[in-house]
Amino acid sequence: MAIPTFTLNNGVTLPALGFGVFQTPPDETRAAVSTALEVGFRHIDTAAAYGNEREVGLALRESGLARDDVFLETKVWISDYGFDETPHAFDKSAGKLGVDRLDLFILHQPLPTAFDRTLDAYRALERLQAEGRVRAIGVSNFMPEHLARLLEATEIVPAVNQVEVHPYFQQRELLALDAEHGILSQAWSPIGGITFYPGYGDDRRSTLADPVLLDIADAHDRTAAQVMLRWHLQQGRSAIPKSTNPRRIAENFDVLGFELSPRELAAIDALDTGVRGGPEPAAIRLESHGRAIPEV
Ligand code: NAP
Repeated sequence: MAIPTFTLNNGVTLPALGFGVFQTPPDETRAAVSTALEVGFRHIDTAAAYGNEREVGLALRESGLARDDVFLETKVWISDYGFDETPHAFDKSAGKLGVDRLDLFILHQPLPTAFDRTLDAYRALERLQAEGRVRAIGVSNFMPEHLARLLEATEIVPAVNQVEVHPYFQQRELLALDAEHGILSQAWSPIGGITFYPGYGDDRRSTLADPVLLDIADAHDRTAAQVMLRWHLQQGRSAIPKSTNPRRIAENFDVLGFELSPRELAAIDALDTGVRGGPEPAAIRLESHGRAIPEV
């Protein structure tokens, strides 16, 4: 079955389902990405801050797939924000990935206390796009106030806003705002990884154990993870699930052969708690979160 795609606001096509590699150790990344490409993923989401771009690039080259057949997305870390610094961040990421051009290059976070620097970084992305070094540009973790300030001060409307979205944290107002401006929302932690990955506190409720999701999964003879991915796709969001386990990687790609009913979609919508799993975007600061991204 063909992978559904989205056409971004500048005409570039993005495969709706991507493969994430946050927290995938470098020595496991090559195998995970190779498996993902084997099972059919054609979109990889990494970041300078994940420390595994080199291994993503290796897997891509080893796959034998043509460069144009795989959509590569990566992110600039906040330490590299600035009109002069961000083009160098492109050189580092592209160099580690072993490519001349990125399909999507996004700002990893807004820096609310240094927003001028965030704007300068975005202006550098605009220039990289004009030079043809990136096909599309965007942002991540931008809340309505950050989007408003960005749209006011820059020329190119971001193609994508990558934000935390899963059944327990749905950010509907933000998604509506993205849509209003022609920005594709892309869900990170799409199956709610942030609600259950280790080391983030034991008091969390895991989306994978949710009775509503498990009932819907049973009805389709699927898993809760597959139901969540279907929910994103049917509501028009890109989703980028992460796994290092070959069985789960294949499971997460096998979400094209069933359809959730309007009632099932509404039941998942009703699970929103309004509680963010990840850090408050406003709390990200250079002083506390800045760290040098190594050279190629
Ligand atoms: P996720 O994809 O929702 O969940 C990943 C977790 O679920 C991992 O612990 C994984 O473990 C497990 N898992 C994967 N498939 C499963 C399945 N079918 N059944 C049961 N468990 C499964 O969460 P995420 O990694 O936080 O988010 C996905 C991607 O979004 C990241 O890799 C990254 O690319 C991006 N992201 C971006 C930001 C940002 O600030 N922009 C923040 C977080 C994430 P195993 O590996 O053991 O399968």
